[in-house]
Order: sequence, then C-alpha cells, then structure tokens
Amino acid sequence: MGMGMHVAGIQVHSAVPSTTDPQAPIWHASPNYGPRRDGLKPSLIVLHYTAMNSAQEALDRLCDPVHEVSAHYLIGGDGTLWHMVREEDRAWHAGAGEWSGQKDINSRSIGIELDNTGRHPFSDLQMRRLEQLLPQIMHRWSIRPYGVIGHSDMAPGRKFDPGPRFDWLRLERNKLAAPRGQNDGPLDAPMDQFRILAQSAGFSADVDDETLLSAVRLRYRPWATGPLQSADLVPMTARS
Ligand SMILES: [Zn+2]
Repeated sequence: MGMGMHVAGIQVHSAVPSTTDPQAPIWHASPNYGPRRDGLKPSLIVLHYTAMNSAQEALDRLCDPVHEVSAHYLIGGDGTLWHMVREEDRAWHAGAGEWSGQKDINSRSIGIELDNTGRHPFSDLQMRRLEQLLPQIMHRWSIRPYGVIGHSDMAPGRKFDPGPRFDWLRLERNKLAAPRGQNDGPLDAPMDQFRILAQSAGFSADVDDETLLSAVRLRYRPWATGPLQSADLVPMTARS
C-alpha cells in the first residue's frame, strides 16, 4: 500500500499486481465446527443466504456456541469477506439433506453464507466477491462447477436459500456452476421423466412431486408457477 519501494533508483514492484490481488479475508473464528467424518474432503460448495438483517448479526450468530451453526465464509452486502472455519474442518451449515445420493453434506462441503434477507437482490459487490472466492476454493479442492449448489438443492422443502433472487445464470456463464441444458424439452412433461432428470442432475432427496418441482424451479426457473411444464425439464437435459 502507498509508496513503492525504490532500490538504487529502480522501483520494486510487488509480486502480485494490486489489481488482481484479492483482499485477504477477515479471520473471525467460529467455535462451531468439528472434523470431517470418514476422512472426507470437500467436493461441494453450498451457497446460502443468511435471512438476517445485517452481516454483523449473521456473523454473531454463526460464531455463537449457543446456536451451533456456522459456515466457512460469510460475504457481506458490501463485499466484505469473513472466514470463520478452516476449509479443512467441518462447519455446520447444511443439516439434513442429500445431493447426488450423498448424505452428511457438511463433511463433503464448504459453506458460504451471503448476507441477504432473502427478499432483496444480491449486490454486485457481493457477487463479485463470491466470484473471486469460488475459483480459489474450487482450485484448492478440485471441485468442479457441478459441485457448486444451493442449500435448497440438497434440502428441498426444508430450505429455500439462496432463493429466487440469486443469479445462478451469472455463475453458470462464469463456469462457477453447472451449465443448464438448452435442448428442446419433450412435448409433454411426465412427472416420472422429470424425476429421472432431476435425480441425474443431483436432486436425489426423497421428496414428493410438488416439493421436488419447487426445488428444481428455485434453481432454474424461480418465478415459474403452476403444474409441471416441459420447460421444467429443459435445464436438466444434456447440454447441446
Ligand atoms: Zn442455508
């Protein structure tokens, strides 16, 4: 920061240009964590919204031993990044649920909380910070875009975050989430075919038709309503 250093009249530049140097996260330790079970390593990244009024309120809660909840990271609406649990450790953010037939998502994932009430858009500063953080985590643990999921994806009917205002398409375009299929859907849309596609996309939790449809729509067509349509199948078809 500030003045460059001069050595024998030659300016010494820092090794990393400041324009691409990500600001270091603010370490704010949470006591709410344990070891990952069965030697598991992170293969998923689960995105959440805090559903609280401020990042400070969320930070307090995520670090309060009474509440027994946590996440590895919290990103404020202004882009501030807090790091609360080491990535090696098992944070307590996912709870009961399933993704791609796998349970104990806490042992398999990194949790990122986004400061948002669930009722307003996510700020660009916050999205940019997320887009800066995701590739770093994905690189460290060899997590593919397919492994970046929402809490509602793995806990359908029980959780609804990061919610209908989260811009999944933006992440997909940046290869930070699995791309959606764009093939023409079938002309009719039988529920059993929808289920098979949803299951192969990762939505494996055992829930009723309506709950499954709501969860898949939250991810791909958040403002869709009414009965199953062929458009609900399209995002889960193979990408052409
Ligand atoms: Zn959540």
